[in-house]
This record gives sequence, structure tokens and C-alpha cells, in this order.
Amino acid sequence: MVSHKPVKLDDQVYCYIWQGMGNNCNTCVFVNVLKGDRPHVIIDPGHIRNETGEECFKSLERAMASDNIKTEDIGLIINTHTHPDHCEANERIVEQSKAGITLSREEDEFRKTVDVNLYKLFGIKAPQFTPLFHLQEGALDLGKDGFQVQVILTPGHSPGSVCLYLPEKKILITGDVIFFMSIGRTDFPGGDMLQLKNSIDKLSGLDVEYIVPGHNTEPNGIIRGKDRVKRNFEAIQMFF
Ligand SMILES: [Zn+2]
Repeated sequence: MVSHKPVKLDDQVYCYIWQGMGNNCNTCVFVNVLKGDRPHVIIDPGHIRNETGEECFKSLERAMASDNIKTEDIGLIINTHTHPDHCEANERIVEQSKAGITLSREEDEFRKTVDVNLYKLFGIKAPQFTPLFHLQEGALDLGKDGFQVQVILTPGHSPGSVCLYLPEKKILITGDVIFFMSIGRTDFPGGDMLQLKNSIDKLSGLDVEYIVPGHNTEPNGIIRGKDRVKRNFEAIQMFF
């Protein structure tokens, strides 16, 4: 059973929009962008299995397979943040491909301390890994053909959340910072409303055609079109 809807934004950016009943995040893949024999980058692989028993990672693997993307060809995992619904499946990918993992230094510290309790709350084993490197704000060069992503530090939902921006493609991947007509929760440990506001202000100045949020608050997931993106930024100001 596949509960992810594949959406290709272009030939290098594929999105897998979660359509299941229970909680899970949307996933993106940067396709064939790394040098070497594991050329794909995955962003937020999500849950292995969620609270309703849905096999989220199996669904993701099937959806990716329909686009000829194999788990063993993933060379890098980027975590926007370390909530279990975004990164529980890291370990499944590492098992199959030995992919490296990257996240911000702030989120890495958070995961080792406060976030452990959140995992306990969900009854999930906290992820054990050593990141390949820490994400820093600014350009991240992924290697092949000059493929570059801008990392933007956007704390608030969690202390080291990041968003990923592709300026030429005008794509913004927002994790749990903003959604369609909504914003990330700040009531979990490590959440901070003022930080979230500052982070969203920082994003609102970017030239964006597509927002890929970490969760859907509308059926089709992706916020498309400059006007809709602009209206979304205006609407979410109401939360502050
Ligand atoms: Zn989250």
C-alpha cells in the first residue's frame, strides 16, 4: 500500500506527499546530485511506522521505486529537525546504503539532550547516529554539476530547525516551520514562539514559487505560485 503521492517539481527535485491517515512528514529527494555511486539526497525520510500502525517507510520506498529511486542509492540524509516523524527512518536508510546524516549543530545538541524525552513520550527509541557534518547557514555544495542548496537556520519549532532553499528553482522546503495557512507548534520542549516569528520573517523575503511544507494542511501539500506563497506568509502573521 502506497500512501505517498509522488510530485516532481523538476528533474532534480522529487517530493513524496504523505496521504495516510496517521501522522508522518512529507519527504523530498534531490535526484542524482551527488558524485559517486550513491547520488541521491533525501530530506526528512519520516516515520518507519506511525501511531496508527501505517508502514510509512515501506510506503515511501514503494513511491520512490515508482520513480526509480532506490534506498541503496541514497548518499546523504538531511534532517530539517529531529522530531521522530521526520527522522525515525534515518536508520533504515543507513542500514541499506550507509548514507551520511546531516543536521544543524544546534539540533544535534538538542537531540542528545531534551529531545530524548520527546522520543520517550512517543514510545520510540531515540536515534543514535554520528552526523557526517553539521549544516551551517549558507550555501551547501552537494558536489555534482554545481548543485547547491541554501541552508537557512530557522529555530522556533525546535532549537536547530533548518529550511532548505533552492534559489534558481524558487523552491523552499520548510520542515515544520510553516505550513499552508499554519505554523509549526512551539509547545514541544525546545519550542519558542518569538524565535519562530523571527525565522518566518527571515523566510518571507525570499523569492519563492513552491513551498514544500513538512505536513499538509491542505490536500495537495505543496503551496504553488508566487501569489499563493505571498498570501500564505501574510495569513500566518495572524498567529503572532
Ligand atoms: Zn516537528
